[in-house]
Amino acid sequence: SVKAEIIAVGTELLLGQITNTNARYLSQQLSYLGIDVYYQTVVGDNLNRLKQAIELASSRADVILFSGGIGPTQDDLTKDALGEVLGRSQHIYPEAMKKVESFFEGRDKPMTENNRRQAIILEGSEPLDNEVGLAVGIAVSQDDKHYIVLPGPPKELQPMFENQAKPWLAKNVLSDEQPIYSKMLKFAGIGESALEDGLLDLISAQTDPTIAPYAKEGEVTIRLTTKADSEKEANVKLKNMEAEIRKRLPDHMYADQDITIEEQILLMMTGMGLSLAAAESCTGGLIMENLTRIPGSALVFMGGVVSYSNEMKEKLLNVPHDLLEGENAPGAVSEEVAEVMAAEARKLLDTDFAVSVTGVAGPGSSERKPVGLVYIGLAERNQPTQVFKLNLKGNREAIRIRSAKSIMYRLWL
Ligand code: ATP
Ligand code: MG
Repeated sequence: SVKAEIIAVGTELLLGQITNTNARYLSQQLSYLGIDVYYQTVVGDNLNRLKQAIELASSRADVILFSGGIGPTQDDLTKDALGEVLGRSQHIYPEAMKKVESFFEGRDKPMTENNRRQAIILEGSEPLDNEVGLAVGIAVSQDDKHYIVLPGPPKELQPMFENQAKPWLAKNVLSDEQPIYSKMLKFAGIGESALEDGLLDLISAQTDPTIAPYAKEGEVTIRLTTKADSEKEANVKLKNMEAEIRKRLPDHMYADQDITIEEQILLMMTGMGLSLAAAESCTGGLIMENLTRIPGSALVFMGGVVSYSNEMKEKLLNVPHDLLEGENAPGAVSEEVAEVMAAEARKLLDTDFAVSVTGVAGPGSSERKPVGLVYIGLAERNQPTQVFKLNLKGNREAIRIRSAKSIMYRLWL
């Protein structure tokens, strides 16, 4: 298989001032392509050491990817070093130069000469367009080795990799390889580590298809990747692995494509002609934001209430004062209040379902209750209202996101 090395360039990385998230991103992406990363190197903004790193990488990898050091300043040396090692001259790529010039046109600051550096490519190399910034990337092959130069800022590097480098790799490096197929599975109501534990035997066996889990915004995604001669063959392999995973984690997989739990709920509820309302305290509207972000949500989601203060819980949702305040009151963060919030929101909006959240998002505790204690309620027409207690970990943001996702998971179940 194809072996790769990632060279992250920047003294900031060596000083510990920034984290090498580009290496992580590129490693992940390359694994999806079936390219094995054998080494990750970090080197400072120093021409000689950078040249040494390139020579070493060329001796042990087929594909070498660079992150950083292609900006306008004198310490941005990646293109200089690569040009010297490969014996290729530098020249200005006119389209990139136009972009640099038009960026400075109409600005107070005149363009300094060093900005021309951002438009440099190497003789015989292919430019990689930078959709976000000014510095052009480079792809070049020499002696059966392939070099890809990408910018340091992640918001520039990621689209350049995805839209420019990936197709270039497919055409120039992976063309003789079997094509790669992948599939996304989505999970809710389970954290990344619990999910990995559940699939340990499959993951550690490094099976085909490969299994790559990652967590983002309170959801866990698994990407299955396989190589096959045809789409049909790939689909059989992917389906079989999906069935194995489902067997180990029953009740948690909510979709076999990359959609959020809210999208899945809206799909289901639209199909069944059901309606939904929400009553939110500590999530402050996050559930409603997650739902209304999705086009077509109006067919299902009617609206809701953000009753953040006790007063608003009483006024808007008829939560009895005795539940909220007083010596023996259970308090705003309680099973009783979550239940009333969901039931009253459902009545108020006359929907088939309503969800509620009340909890302590932190950083400080409230009502002498611990940070992360959250009650989520689920009301259904003509059914008793259900309440679930959560003990969530993490900072304020994580607790809010997880609370919002947890009640959607309950609703999906
Ligand atoms: P610029 O045009 O901004 O100078 P560049 O391609 O020259 O871009 P660097 O100067 O090396 O890249 O880094 C610019 C910024 O990009 C850094 O300050 C840092 O915020 C981010 N960055 C660089 N390398 C990495 C990395 N390996 N992982 C994550 N972020 C990085
Ligand atoms: Mg720079």
